[in-house]
Amino acid sequence: MDGMTRPVFRDDHEQFRVQVRRFVEREIKPFHAGWEEQGIVPVSLWRKAGEEGLLNCMLPVPYGQGGDFGHSAVLIEELARVNASALGFSVHSEVVAPYLHAYGSEDQKRRWLPAMARGELIGAIAMTEPGAGSDVKAIRTSARRDGDHFILNGQKTFISNGHNAGIVIVVARTGTEPGAKGISLLCVEEGTPGFTRGKRLKKIGLRGQDTAELFFENARVPAANLLGEEGQGFKYLMHELSQERLIIAVRAAASIEAFLARTIDYTRGRKAFGQTVFDYQNTRFKLAEAKAQLTMLRVFVDDCLALHLRRELSAERAAMAKLNGSDMQNRLLDEFLQLHGGYGFMSECEIGGAWIDARVGRIYGGTNEIMKEIVARGL
Ligand SMILES: Cc1cc2nc3c(=O)[nH]c(=O)nc-3n(C[C@H](O)[C@H](O)[C@H](O)COP(=O)(O)OP(=O)(O)OC[C@H]3O[C@@H](n4cnc5c(N)ncnc54)[C@H](O)[C@@H]3O)c2cc1C
Repeated sequence: MDGMTRPVFRDDHEQFRVQVRRFVEREIKPFHAGWEEQGIVPVSLWRKAGEEGLLNCMLPVPYGQGGDFGHSAVLIEELARVNASALGFSVHSEVVAPYLHAYGSEDQKRRWLPAMARGELIGAIAMTEPGAGSDVKAIRTSARRDGDHFILNGQKTFISNGHNAGIVIVVARTGTEPGAKGISLLCVEEGTPGFTRGKRLKKIGLRGQDTAELFFENARVPAANLLGEEGQGFKYLMHELSQERLIIAVRAAASIEAFLARTIDYTRGRKAFGQTVFDYQNTRFKLAEAKAQLTMLRVFVDDCLALHLRRELSAERAAMAKLNGSDMQNRLLDEFLQLHGGYGFMSECEIGGAWIDARVGRIYGGTNEIMKEIVARGL
């Protein structure tokens, strides 16, 4: 952003940004519209991203690329800048892989993480069920111990990377106690008997992203695939969700920045009543307001990033960043679309796609109402 330094990023982060930009230009931009038509990104792209060192950025070698969350943030920003919304990289690298790294046994880490870093194995996490979204404690998927296996029964929905995933962390009830107690995390691998996938869900946005229903009918999951301790799943989930919320905030700020710049360019080039649209005071005031709000968001999100790199980001701050970021992104992208007039409503104009894709930011990762609940608890 003009005139703004970002001390949270080091030189190695900025060098990584240059590398990511080249990859985006070469391997993503030319193909993204096709992926949106197909509703999925080919697994070959995941392999290329693995070869380029773009997956599991924040985990140590050999589980990842030996970077930190700053590298993850750079990748998230660069994808948001071009609205490459078809890619499910952050669920894979910044949600699933960190769970495996934090709570997995040495054997589990060796089996799954290096393959995930290479893009040969794609990760998903399945919490949400048709009857339980915000209220994770209400999940009904159950896993009953039977010798060396768990017998898993239930249904999950809205699962990102659901079709391509070779490994899914499934949130299931292993105990009979209600609520948070008795919730465990089970790693279910492709080919597990009784594990099937439903249709890929059609969405109004994120059209290239693979979002699926998953079914477990007496699925036999080896007991060795339990992640961490039995009954501790809810605690693990609560611990890791802040990072997911920060990702949404980082993406929102980068998206606003990119589309503000494009809107400035567009309005400077478009004439109405003998002057450019940019020259109308209404336009300049809208864009000035957007810049002022974005600058505040950026400072806050970068502060959250710095805290997170020191492992000091609280759940409350992460919730504030997600709430403010996604709300602001929705509001400002709507203003930017308006300034594009009818062209903004045309499919070939990128602002329309970004506007629709932004909508889910207020819903997933915990809805913005739930974010307010989290903030309200600390009042
Ligand atoms: C594109 C997409 C990708 C997703 N990817 C995944 C994934 O990979 N894995 C996964 O597990 N899930 C995923 N989800 C699910 C997502 O996390 C849930 O949709 C979200 O948590 C909300 O749950 P719900 O849809 O059941 O809504 P509900 O919980 O039914 O909420 C409906 C409305 O009620 C409000 N509400 C609920 N509780 C409260 C409350 N206590 N106070 C005030 N208002 C409340 C909500 O804010 C919302 O407005 C994805 C969703 C989408 C759309």
